[in-house]
Amino acid sequence: MEPKIISRLSRKERRKKEKKNRPNKRQTLLPILAVSITTISICLLGYYYLQSVNQKREIQKAAAAEKEIEQELLTTIDKQQKKLGNKEVENSDVNDHLQELIYLPTTAQRQTLTEDLETLLTETSHQIEKGTPAKLVGYIKKEDLFGKIASYSSVIEVYKKKQDRWEADSSAQGKSHYMNKETADFPSMADIFQNQDNLTAIQPFIKQQLLDDSKDQAAVIDQILNFPQVTMEQKILSYSPDKVVLSLPKNQLNIDQISVPFSNVLDFTDQGFIDPTIITEHTPPPLDPNKKYISLTFDDGPNPITTPRLLDILMEKNVKATFFMLGQNVVNNPDLVRRVAAEGHVIGSHSYSHPNLTGLDPESVKSQVQETDKAIAAATGKIPTDFRPPYGAVNKDAAEIIGRPIIQWSVDSEDWKTKNTEKIIKRVMKTSYNNSIILMHDIYPETINAVSQIIDALRNEGYDIILADDLITEKQAPLHMYYGNKSEQVIQ
Ligand SMILES: [Zn+2]
Repeated sequence: MEPKIISRLSRKERRKKEKKNRPNKRQTLLPILAVSITTISICLLGYYYLQSVNQKREIQKAAAAEKEIEQELLTTIDKQQKKLGNKEVENSDVNDHLQELIYLPTTAQRQTLTEDLETLLTETSHQIEKGTPAKLVGYIKKEDLFGKIASYSSVIEVYKKKQDRWEADSSAQGKSHYMNKETADFPSMADIFQNQDNLTAIQPFIKQQLLDDSKDQAAVIDQILNFPQVTMEQKILSYSPDKVVLSLPKNQLNIDQISVPFSNVLDFTDQGFIDPTIITEHTPPPLDPNKKYISLTFDDGPNPITTPRLLDILMEKNVKATFFMLGQNVVNNPDLVRRVAAEGHVIGSHSYSHPNLTGLDPESVKSQVQETDKAIAAATGKIPTDFRPPYGAVNKDAAEIIGRPIIQWSVDSEDWKTKNTEKIIKRVMKTSYNNSIILMHDIYPETINAVSQIIDALRNEGYDIILADDLITEKQAPLHMYYGNKSEQVIQ
C-alpha cells in the first residue's frame, strides 16, 4: 500500500527534495532568517502579553466599577429599609442576573405577611425578562393609620441595570393588613376587650345582635337568652377599624361567629383600636357643666289606662323618659309597649311580677329576668339593656343573673305612698337636685296628673330633662348600680 501513496504524493515530495538540495547561497541566509523570526516572535509575544495584561486590567477595573455601583445600590436599599424598621433576612441569587433581597420588620414576622411577600416575590420575578440584570427587594411596609393601628403590606421594588447604572424600575404592593403597631401582630382579644369584665358587659349586645340576625326571633329567643358567656378564649376571626368578627362558644343555635360593631360597645373596648370617626359619631356630647340635668323614670307599667295618658303628656312636653316595665304587664299590652318604644322612650326591665329578688332562689330570679326579656323582645324586637329590681333590692347573685347595669333612683316621688297629686309635685320639687333620677309610677292617675306640672316646674328651675342613660356619663356595666350621674356603686 505504502508505495502507492508515495507515488501519489510524489510530485510534492519531489519539489521538497529539490528545495532541500538547492545550492549553498541559501544555506547562509538560513541563520539570519532564524534570528529575525525569533526576534519578531519575541516582540510579538511581548506585545500580545502586554496587551492581554492591559486588557485584564481593564476588565478588572470595569468589574470593580460595576461592583461599586452595585454595592452603592445595596447600601442605599439597606439604609432605606433600616429607616422603615426592617432588616435583611434573605439575599439570594435566583440566577446569573436576578437577585432577591428580603427585608422584614425587626419587631415581628407574621406568617401571613411573609407568605404574602413570598407570593408577590414569585409573581414579580416571573415578569422579569430573561437575561435582564435585576434586583427584587421585597419588604414589609408599615403605615400608621390611627391610635394603635398600623397597616402592614408587602411591597416588591424592582431595580434594573440600564447600561452601567442601576435604576428603580417598578414596584408592586400586596394586600394590607390591620395590625397593632406596637406588636406588629393582629389585634388580639386582650388588645381590644382587655378583660373578662368588658366581655361580660358586651354580652347583652351580643344577644341583641344574635336576635337581630335571626329570621324567626320567637323560635330562638330562649337559646339567645341562655347564650353561653363570651370569654377571652374567643378568637378574633377578622378585624376592621369599625368591627370585629368573633368566634363564639359552643351553643345550641350552632352559630360559630358573630360580627360586633364597635359603635355598640365603645365603652368596653380599648378605643385605640377603633376608627376615630366612629368614636366621635357614637360618643354623646359631654353634659354642659354649667347646666342642670335630671331624669324621669316610670315603674310598674305599662297600664292600658294611665300609660297612654302619660305618653300624650310627654309627647306634648317633648320629654323622653325610661319605663321600667313588669313582664306580666308587657304580655298583656304589647301594642302599648311598642308605642312607648316608637315614641323614643327607653324600656327597661323591672322583673316579671315584682318580687323581692334577694329572697328568691337563682332559678326563680332567672325566670323573672328571662320571662320579662322575652315579653319585651316579643313586643319590640329589643332585649332591654337596663334593669331596675323591685324595691331597688338586689344582691350579687341576682345581679350576676341580671347581667346588666342596675339603674336605681335618687329622688323618690313617694307617689306609691301618698297617691296625691299635690303631694307628689311638692315632694319631687323639694327633693330634686342636679344629676338625679326621679322615681315615679305610671300606674297611678294621681302621678299622671302631676307629671305636666313637674316638668314645667323643673324646667323653671333650669333643669334639662334627659334620659337616664344619657344622664349617667360613666360607662354602665353589669354588677354596678347607678343612682344618678357620678353616683355609682359596685354590688358586692
Ligand atoms: Zn316597682
